[in-house]
Amino acid sequence: MASCNSVNPFFKTWDAPYGIPPYEEIKVSDYMPALREGMKQQCAAVEAIVSNPDAPTFDNTVAALEFSGSLLSQVEGVLFNVCETDRSDELDAVVEEALPLLSAHSDAISFNKRLYARVAAVMEQEYDALDREQQMVLKELCESFVREGVNLPEEVQDTLKEINAQISLKTQKIGNNILAESNAFQEAFGFSVSAYPDQMTTTADRELRRRYNEFYTSRGHRGNENDNTTLILEVMRLRIRRAQLLGYSTPAAYELATKMAGTPQTVDAFLAPIMQAALKAAGRELKDMQALMDEDIRAGLLPEGSTIQPWDWWYYAEKVRKARYDLDEEQTKPYFQIDSVVKGLFLAAGKLYGVKAERLEGVPVYNPEVTTYKIIDDDGSLAGIFTTDYFPRSSKRGGAWMNNVREQYVAPDGTEVRPIIVNVGNLHKNLSVDEVQTVFHEFGHALHGLLTRCHYPSVSGTSVKRDYVEMLSQFNENWAFQPELLAAYARDAAGAVIPEELVAKINNALKFNQGFMTTELCAASILDMKWHELTEIPDEAFADPAAWIDAFESKVCADMGLIPEIAPRYRTTYFNHIFSSGYNAGYYGYLWAEVLDKDAFSIFEASGNVWNKELARKFKETFLQKGGSEEPMVLYESFAGRKPDQTAFLRARGL
Ligand SMILES: [Zn+2]
Repeated sequence: MASCNSVNPFFKTWDAPYGIPPYEEIKVSDYMPALREGMKQQCAAVEAIVSNPDAPTFDNTVAALEFSGSLLSQVEGVLFNVCETDRSDELDAVVEEALPLLSAHSDAISFNKRLYARVAAVMEQEYDALDREQQMVLKELCESFVREGVNLPEEVQDTLKEINAQISLKTQKIGNNILAESNAFQEAFGFSVSAYPDQMTTTADRELRRRYNEFYTSRGHRGNENDNTTLILEVMRLRIRRAQLLGYSTPAAYELATKMAGTPQTVDAFLAPIMQAALKAAGRELKDMQALMDEDIRAGLLPEGSTIQPWDWWYYAEKVRKARYDLDEEQTKPYFQIDSVVKGLFLAAGKLYGVKAERLEGVPVYNPEVTTYKIIDDDGSLAGIFTTDYFPRSSKRGGAWMNNVREQYVAPDGTEVRPIIVNVGNLHKNLSVDEVQTVFHEFGHALHGLLTRCHYPSVSGTSVKRDYVEMLSQFNENWAFQPELLAAYARDAAGAVIPEELVAKINNALKFNQGFMTTELCAASILDMKWHELTEIPDEAFADPAAWIDAFESKVCADMGLIPEIAPRYRTTYFNHIFSSGYNAGYYGYLWAEVLDKDAFSIFEASGNVWNKELARKFKETFLQKGGSEEPMVLYESFAGRKPDQTAFLRARGL
């Protein structure tokens, strides 16, 4: 017992202000023992629920289950934040060890028939007497038991467990292959796949662009050791089998049953008119670009008869943009220093929702580069703790995201726990227009997490349906470039305000090239749906998987009317979202949420004042405070007084 004075920080009371985790005290070796203890405590709590001699009630069963994993969620909240923001080999090893244990732990709860019997009894006897939030918690809990297969005979459950394990292994392998192919791309050309659009925009050498495009669009499909073609057919076959065992005709029907859209038919009918409008706009963009290409032909730079090809799109689009909008980002960047933009974020939230941010010094941080704020709601109470972690580090995953280190809830003894929210990015110190949008986007998720007023962790904050969650983040982007707000925050180092003509140029250029952008996004959404609407993968597909996938993709693209100059944003063999990140039959969600967000924003515009306080209050009470405590379509209709409509979305994208 050499170090008996080093108690695991997860087993102590956290006495830092606002219950912020004692990040600096937590060692990598503390996670596994804390996770094991957390799982053990939750198992004991579940056992106590099922062996309770009292008749099942909402409180002694559903609420008891909601609050049964508090230590476990505390550990997970910290671990899954740092493993994405500050990864190390030691942390990776912890996660690798933890994941199978955690998934077996949640399986043990989902397949617990005694527990389900009590939950089902509450559903039958008490549902009507509960408040709306409790009804939603109960309904979703019941659904998730049934969806996992709790009612099925044991041998079918065993098959399902086997299928789940197979899918998780194979999708992991698909993801690794995509990563390996992306690394091979970087090795071949000296830049990463995320820099592909930039390189395609600035590379004048047409043959080089053709080679970039060829490699980029054949990732996972090159017949090498990273080939995904067979794996994808196997995963699809397993997903179809799983959906059918659970009583659904297709994987899409299974996935959509718990989404806002509800059915594959709704999604298909939603995407079709967007595709038509986008294709029309893309046709106009193509004409503008061909005119500039014709100039290059006349100047002798290209052979007679050259036409725009997929590898020309970015390059000529940029020429059109320069000619038409004359927006040079080198001119706008000085006005978008990160500190000014953060000031803009808080100003907008203050004007709309009455919230205030105060910087906190001397509180525990998981990395010295992060900044922590206390967010105060309009009634003077604490909304939550907000941490920004905006700059790249080699230990940080790419991209930008919001993380919940702690969920909001009201504990059974009545004490309210307020959330801890992190916004993470990989930004420059002076932001591009895109990056400003990203900061507002992630803060939209943060506001959803911070302003929530629920009681149960499973429905609080951003714990909502996947095709609804992006509405709240995308909605917040609408304020980023409002002229009144820019005048207040967009200042250069000398304090000069951004000139009006630059503001106008930014707002005009936001609609640029949207025919192309929407077409490739919508095409990928349709491709995703068509894969998951299949009812079988025939045996002959496995004879030549690459050829079968090519033929399938070609038919899907032809049916949607896709033009050869544009490919879906992701082709099948590198479509990470749907084969490795849980967006299967869900990629449409980005467009779905954008229609909601633009439609809601059009109500602010129609009022003649986008800063309309009355509407903002209604928005906050209807969406930001409610989490998943009501069906999103019910919330939407209560806000808008009608069903959502695509008009504002099409107008905002200039389609
Ligand atoms: Zn988002």
